[in-house]
Amino acid sequence: MTQGILVINAGSSSIKFSVYAVTDGSSLELHSKGLIEGIGGKPYALAKGADGSPIGERNWREDEPNDFQSCFAELVRWLLPHLKGMDLVGVGHRVVHGGPELNRPVLLDPKTIEALEALIPLAPLHQPSNLLAAKKSLELTPDIPNVACFDTAFHRTQPRVADAFGLPSAYYDNGVRRYGFHGMSYEYIAARLPELAPELADGKVVVAHLGNGASMCAMRDGKSVASTMGFTVLDGLPMGTRCGAVDPGVLLYLMDKEGRDSKAISDLLYKQSGLLGMSGVSNDMRELKQSNEPKAADAVDYYVYRIGRELGSLTAALGGLDGLVCTAGIGENDADLRERVCKDAAWLGVELDKDANRNGAVRISTPKSAVSVWAIPTNEELMIANHTFNVIRG
Ligand code: ADP
Repeated sequence: MTQGILVINAGSSSIKFSVYAVTDGSSLELHSKGLIEGIGGKPYALAKGADGSPIGERNWREDEPNDFQSCFAELVRWLLPHLKGMDLVGVGHRVVHGGPELNRPVLLDPKTIEALEALIPLAPLHQPSNLLAAKKSLELTPDIPNVACFDTAFHRTQPRVADAFGLPSAYYDNGVRRYGFHGMSYEYIAARLPELAPELADGKVVVAHLGNGASMCAMRDGKSVASTMGFTVLDGLPMGTRCGAVDPGVLLYLMDKEGRDSKAISDLLYKQSGLLGMSGVSNDMRELKQSNEPKAADAVDYYVYRIGRELGSLTAALGGLDGLVCTAGIGENDADLRERVCKDAAWLGVELDKDANRNGAVRISTPKSAVSVWAIPTNEELMIANHTFNVIRG
């Protein structure tokens, strides 16, 4: 029987899953993937094979329980028959926060989950659903090892100056630090560099993860030395609906002058800001590009501008720059945006090869560009599957 690894990425109202088959005893190959959305409302699940063809679809009836735990249980029950001939040997969970110490994936048991629950105040929007899924999974699959992979773990190599805030040091000691996120994506890119761009593997590289969530990471020798995301997933670049860097004084203003409480401010910063808030049109880059609304163009201008500023800042943290890698939905697909970013980075010695950029090449800078530029698709799920398999194998 083929061994399989199930990867779970649980959000507050949706759960994405992927199944990887173990081939040749050690390589992982995508078998199927899918999602369940509308949790808490009218859930709907869809599974697709590795080639994208639908292999299963399910609509919840009105009288069926639609809470997170029931939906997860039903997902597992519904998914298993689709994995005929596969022996599930591990479940890997994306968990947003591993705290200040955890720098690698861990095997989950009730005690570990309890320790991770203590980190909920650090990531109140993501950690609870990540752990609910992990708990339910342990209950439903007690004989299968469950592994947590953290978005923060990759950044634990950062020096203290990079992960500290200018607050009294007791706050640092109590965990108020810059954690950095999107670690699975950065780790995946770092793992691809030796093969795709060997000259960068031990160089000074900035990776721009530009998806719905967006951040940038400075890496030296494939290790994180600084990142734009901080204590939470709000800092740094503007995102689909998140604000990115904001002067903390703005928050005091919102409280004192507008009388907003933390819930209202949280909604504003996480859900009503970024590309959506600035444009008033959409959180989706493709829709902004097609819009004639001037504010849509303003939002994209701001996005490009902030990438340029963060690139300068991360280059300073690295003491130079050998390569820039663009990844995730926008970074991988939006040639026009990459062109604008590279134009603004000409002062660093970036010279874009416009044809390569338009034609889907991996290396998109000219041979004489002082800084090489790359568009590399990320694969966070595969990274989680790999980690899970490695933890299981000890
Ligand atoms: P998530 O963080 O949810 O995984 P993705 O990495 O899928 O997000 O990125 C979503 C973003 O990528 C959206 O803003 C979407 O508009 C953008 N995107 C996807 N394809 C393209 C494209 N061809 N051109 C421009 N933007 C794109």
